[in-house]
Amino acid sequence: MSKFVVAIDGGAGSGKSTTARGVAKRLNFFYLDTGAMYRAFTLKYLQNRHKSEDRINMELVERLLIDTTIELRQENGETRVYLDGDDVTLAIRTPEVSGFVSQVSAIPDVRVWMVAKQRGIAEGKNVVCEGRDIGTVVFPDAQVKIFMQADLKTRTERRLKELAEKKITTDTEEVAENLKFRDKYDSGRAHSPLKKADDAIVVDTTDLTIEQEIKLVRKIVEERFRSQTGG
Ligand code: C5P
Repeated sequence: MSKFVVAIDGGAGSGKSTTARGVAKRLNFFYLDTGAMYRAFTLKYLQNRHKSEDRINMELVERLLIDTTIELRQENGETRVYLDGDDVTLAIRTPEVSGFVSQVSAIPDVRVWMVAKQRGIAEGKNVVCEGRDIGTVVFPDAQVKIFMQADLKTRTERRLKELAEKKITTDTEEVAENLKFRDKYDSGRAHSPLKKADDAIVVDTTDLTIEQEIKLVRKIVEERFRSQTGG
């Protein structure tokens, strides 16, 4: 069992990652970025599929699932993502992966595989876990559940800035379309869709700075942590 779980869900670019990372760092919790895991598997699928196939090759997905390792390592205060031992931290952020990840993530067997891994990673730790189905499926008993949202313009601007910092070239239109597409796809899938858990606290980050959103969520977590642990 995990010790104390903070579940942060929300749409693409809603501020989840920055907030989750910031809160985990300040509270010294493990930061579990589940989106990075879906992205890593999607990268592997893209590297192995035949370019001519535009429909998902389920036989290939099943074969790859048997033989894939994904690790999240905390190195020098940041999380690095390893796929079969290779550092793919940057490679999973390309527009190609972003354009394909929702289709791969909708496959039930991929989700079952991921959820088992995510629970394994969290075992025995205090974690801040972020994704789409954390409060509803992965950790339905999480001590704190947050659902983050922000308007599309704000989300697009943030994502453009992040990509520019990583020197990944794209344009405003492509980023906005991808955020909209993923939210629609992620919310509409049959298996564990993006959804607010009934007992989640909604945090709208449209008018908040990064520091403000981290502070707000940290305060919620600290109050709950104290009341649960008596600390
Ligand atoms: O969090 P991020 O935007 O990097 O996630 C990339 C994609 O991974 C999402 O658009 C979604 O399709 C998938 N995902 C998911 N469930 C999660 C986390 C991510 O389906 N818990």
